[in-house]
Amino acid sequence: MEATAPCAQPAKAIKPIDHKSVHQICSGQVVLNLGTAVKELVENSVDAGATNIDLKLKEYGADLIEVSDNGCGVEEENFEGLTLKYYTSKIQDFSDLMHVGTFGFRGEALSSLCALSDVTIFTCHKSAKVGTRLVFDHNGKITQKTPYPRQQGTTVSVQQLFYTLPVRHKEFQRNIKKEYAKMVQILQAYCIISTGVRINCTNQVGQGKKHSVVCTTGSCSLKENIGAIFGQKQVILTVGKGEKAAARIC
Ligand code: ADP
Ligand code: MG
Repeated sequence: MEATAPCAQPAKAIKPIDHKSVHQICSGQVVLNLGTAVKELVENSVDAGATNIDLKLKEYGADLIEVSDNGCGVEEENFEGLTLKYYTSKIQDFSDLMHVGTFGFRGEALSSLCALSDVTIFTCHKSAKVGTRLVFDHNGKITQKTPYPRQQGTTVSVQQLFYTLPVRHKEFQRNIKKEYAKMVQILQAYCIISTGVRINCTNQVGQGKKHSVVCTTGSCSLKENIGAIFGQKQVILTVGKGEKAAARIC
């Protein structure tokens, strides 16, 4: 028996997808993998002026990605906007793009992470007396807001990334080691270019010991950052090669 060609079936009505589903689908296009999630959170910390960024992963990031910084923190009047789509403190209109000096400006990362996982944010703005713990639903709405003592800065906790997209979640868990390896490369790149920012990342598997993933010292020199990531031997090789190449050009 011949299979019926799709076009032979009666045409289905073209209808809009409901807003919640659109948000969920589009969020998966913003945060594509573990590397993007970590990159977006680190960029936010750097944009907030942090000089110290701590990343805590559980199960290679599949269970938990937690990024803590000592940046400016979030003011209470901005709590609602933090995780709403296209809400940003970095630009107001298209013309601002000419002068943008931050990594982020689209206001999509936190809203997408909320749609894809369980997000909790702990923050204390420099003007606040006490910090706040904020729990968000998948639409980026605050569901819990409680006082939480902490130093100035922000911690974003992302639990069970992609669990709201079951097929992606399964693939993510199946390929977690590959995802992790790619994420480490991205993180290393940010460690090298982020001069004056100390970045420390650990991973814990099961109840095991925390294992160091990357660690920099907050040096103002790219060379020292390369040394912290790849070892001093690599710096000598890289700089040596660079000098030889420069000599050839001259
Ligand atoms: P974008 O970075 O493009 O503005 P995000 O969704 O990543 O969008 O963040 C939304 C807003 O939340 C930022 O504009 C910033 O004001 C605030 N924010 C996010 N992360 C931090 C952080 N670690 N410290 C202080 N403010 C933050
Ligand atoms: Mg951002």
